[in-house]
Amino acid sequence: MYHFCVSPIYKEFTGFWGFDQLWEIIRTQNYEALLTLKGIQAFLRPLIPVLLLIEIIRGLFYRRYSHSQHKISLFTYILNRFISSFLSIAMVAFCIGLFEPYALVKTTLTWYWFVYGYVIWELAHFVYHYFGHKVRLFWCLHSTHHAPEYMNLSVTYAHFFLEAPYTDIIRTTICILLGVNPPLLFLIMFIDGTWGAFIHIGENLLKDGRLGFLNKYILTPSHHRVHHARNPLYMDTNFCNLLNIWDRAFGTLQDEKQSMEIEYGISRPMKKGDFLDAYFGEIVALGKDVYHAPGLKDKILYIFMPPGWSHTGDHKTATVVKADYIKEHQQELSLGAKP
Ligand SMILES: [Zn+2]
Ligand SMILES: [Zn+2]
Repeated sequence: MYHFCVSPIYKEFTGFWGFDQLWEIIRTQNYEALLTLKGIQAFLRPLIPVLLLIEIIRGLFYRRYSHSQHKISLFTYILNRFISSFLSIAMVAFCIGLFEPYALVKTTLTWYWFVYGYVIWELAHFVYHYFGHKVRLFWCLHSTHHAPEYMNLSVTYAHFFLEAPYTDIIRTTICILLGVNPPLLFLIMFIDGTWGAFIHIGENLLKDGRLGFLNKYILTPSHHRVHHARNPLYMDTNFCNLLNIWDRAFGTLQDEKQSMEIEYGISRPMKKGDFLDAYFGEIVALGKDVYHAPGLKDKILYIFMPPGWSHTGDHKTATVVKADYIKEHQQELSLGAKP
């Protein structure tokens, strides 16, 4: 009976740390396995949870740790752990089965197709992420990730449970249709997931997130900090994950300005540290707007127009807020043109 109760919790615990595969390699002393793809994955998987632990310990040591800085992320992690991952895996499998026969090109597991696959993956990521910010309904799914008013590795785990299936439908469909074959796709997903978690590293552990010269070529923690900011100039920028090519192509790349301190969070006033508000707040707000909209057309527009759109014409969308800000601060911005 004792075992019966403890074992799933124990499994959940070891599963979170991702040490099981690495432990297996150490136990069997099969160190050559570390040179294989599976081995590299086994080695990298515990990286983010361990970094998160170091981040928390450092915070405790320097007395900067506050429980509220991880609360929203922790609650969403627990809720998502069971429902979201299951739905997400099902969606990926479903999209592969449905769209693979219609793939435009045929790829193999070679380095050049890997490069091709990564560029396509970044495009697919850009598309899902862009619409997650620009369509109010999808923002309801994505906003939980932007709710924390701090930045640390636990934010990686803060997501609304339906966001992963939505994300995976878009990303998998685009990739499969453009010929990224499933093994290649899973390899890219793994790299992307690890990097996507790492860019949430907080200032406590990595003060300057620009990673030196890399800031010019890839999407760094600094870029992703900008993405999580509600400063008008920073809103709706840096949608990419590792390569910033599509942000460059679509003009949404924004470097961190040393003169502008990042304010994390979303622009809607939130109940501080309230998990329910972080999780359902945007859905409630959308429900209210749809309910109060005068006609059917406006009700539908609320669902599909960007967050901040209003039937009265008094829009508070990121584009409007940013344009107003630039107009107001034109002089300062041109004076402080250097980053
Ligand atoms: Zn986002
Ligand atoms: Zn993020």
